[in-house]
Order: sequence, then C-alpha cells, then structure tokens
Amino acid sequence: MSATLVRDKAAEMLKIALPNKGRLAEDIRALFGEAGLPVNAVNERSLSASLGGEFEAIFVRAQDIPEFVADNAAEAGITGWDLASESGRSLEMLLDLEFGRCRLVLAAREESGVRALDQIQGVPRVATCFPKLTKRFFNDAKRQVEIVPVSGAAEIAPRLGIAELVVDLTSTGSTLRVNGLVEIATLLESSARLISRSGTQLRRELRELVDALASVLRARGRRYLMANVPRQSLDEVRKVLPGLNGPTVVDVLDGGRFVAVHAVVDSSSIYRTIAALKSLGAEGILVTKIERLMP
Ligand code: AMP
Repeated sequence: MSATLVRDKAAEMLKIALPNKGRLAEDIRALFGEAGLPVNAVNERSLSASLGGEFEAIFVRAQDIPEFVADNAAEAGITGWDLASESGRSLEMLLDLEFGRCRLVLAAREESGVRALDQIQGVPRVATCFPKLTKRFFNDAKRQVEIVPVSGAAEIAPRLGIAELVVDLTSTGSTLRVNGLVEIATLLESSARLISRSGTQLRRELRELVDALASVLRARGRRYLMANVPRQSLDEVRKVLPGLNGPTVVDVLDGGRFVAVHAVVDSSSIYRTIAALKSLGAEGILVTKIERLMP
C-alpha cells in the first residue's frame, strides 16, 4: 500500500476517545464487544486500538475525554456526564449508556448537625474535584463559598480541617458514611455517556454506532419468550404478554387447539410472566437472551 493510501485510511477512521482505566473502562469494553466492535488492543498499555470497521479507539484519562472531543482530536468519546459537565465545553450527549451511575453531592460532617443548605453558617470551605460545578451550584443558591480544589479523595478534607463541606461523587453512599459525612444536596445525576462536539453534523458511521450501542442497551434487560398456549386463553395471554407490540401469534399444526406466542418481555418480571402463562395452560415455554433490539 502506498504511503498516501495508508494516510487516507487513517484520516477516514472515526476516532472514539475511551477511558484508559478506571471504573468505566471494563463496562465500555463489554458494551463494544456486544455491539460487534471488540476492542482489539495489542496490550493493556496500548494508546489506541482498532474496533473493527471504520472505528479506532484512543485511550486517554476519563477527565481528558471532554477536551479531546471538544477540540476535535476525537469525533466522539465516552466518559462520565459529571466530567463532561465540569469541563464546561460545548458537548452534545448522543447516548446514555446507563452504567457508571452516580450523583455529585454536597456533604457535611455528620457531627456538624448541618442537614440542609440553609443551615450552613458563614462562608464555608468546600473541597472538591469539581470546582466549576460547585461554584455554579453555590452561585445559583446565592451563597458564598471558598472552593478548595483537590484532585481526589475530597471526602477526607473535613477530617484534615481544610474544608467544612465536600462536593463529591457517590453511588452507594458508603464512602461518605465511612468518612462520617452526610448528604445535603444533589448537584448532578451522572452516568457514562457517549458525547460529541456540539453543532457538528454527525458522520454516518457515528450515527450507526449510536444505533448499534442503543440496540445492545435496549436488549440487555429483555428476553425473548416463546410458548404454546391454548387458543381459548389467548385474550388472557395477551394481557400477560404485552411485549413490544403485543405477542406474535402463530398457528400450531395440532388441530387448532394451541397457538404459539412469541414476545419480548422484561427480564425483571420473567418469573411472574412464566407463572402466569403456566396457570393459563401454556406448554413448551422457552426463554432466550436477545443480542440486539431495534424496534
Ligand atoms: P474513575 O474510575 O475515577 O476514572 O471514575 C470515572 C467515572 O466513573 C466518574 O467520573 C463517574 O462518572 C463514574 N463513577 C461512577 N460511580 C462513581 C463513584 N461512586 N465514585 C466516583 N466515580 C464514579
């Protein structure tokens, strides 16, 4: 291949910035694998990897991803919405990936007795890795604060006497509790999101990627259920199996006594669905996983 051809091919590749480590990295890798775009990194320290097709992953720190995307070093990226919001850059959310759920919260020391914003005295010091979001929150609340920027472990700041309050991420609340902190307010709800630069026309490949990832996410909490049910119970069965557009009903060659029904059902209620179908005389119930779902 000539040098020009190699360069042209590299220019065509659609670059997606992904976290090189941290709590989102594993879930992102699994999602791309399920979408048929396995992350083919040469080794764990690779800075980039082919995702197959026209896609190339570049691995950077989760907090740098908003900058890479906003500056067009990558056409899209996946990172926490908290980091995208804190960056203050003009970014568009293309898809909520639903994992990495957490909240950015304001917390105080338990023994301070402070349980609400209006109980805070004077001008408190707030330790946080999210100075911009914190500043905006207190501005909106028309409260003065002194921000103590830290690059991690903000929750230890009150114990060290360098701040009265913290603004930090929490998912289960256990780290806050262990550090003797109680939540006072939520600044932001976050999860991992696919982002792009605002105001740009999305390339066809990127739109296809959004559809592929969305179809995998949609399929995750669903199962495909098939069963033979007595024809006379069909009306009752329809109530149990609303499915996406109601069940598909197929004749069975048994003289017309039974019909086969197929439906997409929520996996969280599958036990109840099966029990209800059995009580209606269903036989040959089969439940399978769905890889993708495109309504
Ligand atoms: P990290 O593992 O530190 O690279 O965190 C990357 C992202 O994971 C954060 O910016 C959040 O979007 C997300 N995340 C989800 N749950 C939590 C949590 N309990 N604490 C911190 N980050 C979280």
